[in-house]
Amino acid sequence: MAVVGGGVIGLACAWRLAQRGASVRVFDPAAGAGASHAAAGMLAPVTEVHHGEEPLLALNLASAQLWPAFAAELVEAAGIDVGYRTGGTLAVALDDDDLRSLDELRGFQESLRLSVTRLTSRECRAREPSLSPRVRGGVLAANDHQVDSRLTVQALLAAVERSGVTLVRESVTALSVTGRAVTAVHTTSGPHPCRSVVVAAGSWSADIDGSPPAVMPPVRPVKGQILRLRFDPAAAPLQGTVRGLAAGRSVYLVPRSHGELVVGATVEEVGFDTTLTAGAVHDLLQAAIDLVPEVAELELVEATARLRPGTPDNAPLLGPTGLDGLVLATGHHRNGVLLAPITAEVIVSVVTAGTVPPVAVGFDPGRFQRCISA
Ligand SMILES: Cc1cc2nc3c(=O)[nH]c(=O)nc-3n(C[C@H](O)[C@H](O)[C@H](O)COP(=O)(O)OP(=O)(O)OC[C@H]3O[C@@H](n4cnc5c(N)ncnc54)[C@H](O)[C@@H]3O)c2cc1C
Repeated sequence: MAVVGGGVIGLACAWRLAQRGASVRVFDPAAGAGASHAAAGMLAPVTEVHHGEEPLLALNLASAQLWPAFAAELVEAAGIDVGYRTGGTLAVALDDDDLRSLDELRGFQESLRLSVTRLTSRECRAREPSLSPRVRGGVLAANDHQVDSRLTVQALLAAVERSGVTLVRESVTALSVTGRAVTAVHTTSGPHPCRSVVVAAGSWSADIDGSPPAVMPPVRPVKGQILRLRFDPAAAPLQGTVRGLAAGRSVYLVPRSHGELVVGATVEEVGFDTTLTAGAVHDLLQAAIDLVPEVAELELVEATARLRPGTPDNAPLLGPTGLDGLVLATGHHRNGVLLAPITAEVIVSVVTAGTVPPVAVGFDPGRFQRCISA
């Protein structure tokens, strides 16, 4: 079988499928270099919850629960520490308006019975002494954790190789379809016959020719600019992930134990554009420094822009399509790292048993088609 795309989603699916005995080829000219390369690695179903995205919450929570075992198994399989860190996420507010927004979100989180705790300014600073004295208060989400997404991709690449997956470093340009079934993927080196194809090509999932328009995934690119700074691991500026609102600007700071501080991220609807802009870098740094002044002293080592695969309802497309053998695992938008373990489980069930697990029923790739024809 063929997996198109070697980001965190395609690799997680390929690994799990190979573990079940499938003969898998992953096609990708630049595995790991898409959105997965930029991701901050927050595993944050609670702090990432948005109004109108309640159906996604159950999937996010289910995947967060899988992460400890997924990380441990991946470390064992690859011999690479993926930096899975518990410790929760602290969301903080810089001014009164920011605090009102944070409290409004907390009310929503509590209405969904999510575990969040309101902290005073003093309690926030007791937890994170580097926070600015201007911080007005915060909310602790004790169950939102993090993983190093780059190490995760590295580990998945090693794990798929060890489990017998072939990585073909070529782009898939088209699918061959005979009747109502997919029969091959095409690359520049020619056709590669296969009975099943998992499309996990992130923002580019709709760019593969040959499939009927009805099964084309409605995926669009959502640009994110993100920064990486360096600190001395013996003098970490933060103990754990801090998200914040600073005079209306949203930012997050994710410290890694090896001395990397990830500061992100913009959310921009500008098509397939990955230009780094001075304004975005300025705004992210300004918000980060407003919340944690010593960030100003850290070395800025990287600015990156990548494309999140967005969908009309911001939830992924998981499962079979109207074409026999064609399965989608795409559209993970802001939560692809979080959703990798559950996505892989769902795709294994679809491919090997022909069943969509109950947790994934609401993420049927055909759901927008029905909306259009209704
Ligand atoms: C700035 C930023 C921060 C983020 N932070 C987080 C976070 O903290 N937590 C979280 O859970 N998620 C986060 N995300 C979202 C997450 O990165 C994505 O949801 C996830 O990486 C999607 O994975 P993917 O494998 O579907 O796509 P990608 O990682 O984009 O991989 C797609 C792959 O498909 C390949 N490809 C494309 N076309 C073809 C083709 N025709 N043939 C073969 N291969 C092809 C590409 O080369 C690429 O490697 C963030 C995203 C961004 C941009």
